[in-house]
Amino acid sequence: THFGFRDVPVAEKQKLVGEVFSSVAGNYDLMNDLMSLGVHRVWKRYFVGTCQVKRGDRVLDLAGGTGDIAALLHERVGATGHIVLGDINGEMLKVGRDRLTDRGIVAGIEFAECNAEKLPFPDASFDLVTIAFGLRNVTDKDAALREMRRVLKVGGQARVLEFSSVTADWFKPIYDFHSFNILPKLGKLFANDADSYQYLAESIRKHPPQDELKTMMEAAGFARCGYKNLSAGIVAIHTGYKV
Ligand code: SAM
Repeated sequence: THFGFRDVPVAEKQKLVGEVFSSVAGNYDLMNDLMSLGVHRVWKRYFVGTCQVKRGDRVLDLAGGTGDIAALLHERVGATGHIVLGDINGEMLKVGRDRLTDRGIVAGIEFAECNAEKLPFPDASFDLVTIAFGLRNVTDKDAALREMRRVLKVGGQARVLEFSSVTADWFKPIYDFHSFNILPKLGKLFANDADSYQYLAESIRKHPPQDELKTMMEAAGFARCGYKNLSAGIVAIHTGYKV
């Protein structure tokens, strides 16, 4: 692919990931619906619906992109709550701000162009930190997890929604075919961008599976770490607490 993701140095990778998201920003929602047949909406709703959060809480949604999670979180923290939508990519943030404004969500929400590996917030700033379909794009995942813990208040929860490792053997070949054949073709057809979607499929394959990510969260200092598979492990929700 012209992005040439294999064996590139770290700084280079970060730039290339940036290009992918700038390139898909406009078609992002449509592609999510096509690729997951709309199921990503169910995953996101379940993810936010089961977070430890209450009215008036301060929440950070990292890699918040087009604002799906922030919109759902807004329902949970209410008018007295506060949400910070952080993303490394200015284009994605712009799309996110537009989408949220369209849905009438303006008050109590703030946008921060930031790298999850090095957050521009003081320690103990948030009751909940979420990252949905974002961690696998982060170069230094351990640093990002440590930062998520640092900015949490004691008692606060960190939650990761991410593609994971499919648990049912019979489903694996079907899933692989979808990822490496159908997905890049959809990308070509609807976004004229097969390479970006090829990259996304590869990044899903390279992301640490359930137990490995759980261990990484423990290493980052989180307590009571655990995960829950959704849709046979196509995605998993990881949870950890700052104690
Ligand atoms: N959370 C949204 C959702 O679920 O629809 C967006 C997910 S999108 C697949 C991944 C996002 O991660 C992109 O918006 C990208 O810009 C962002 N991203 C990638 N690397 C990042 C980093 N190091 N720090 C913060 N955001 C990052």
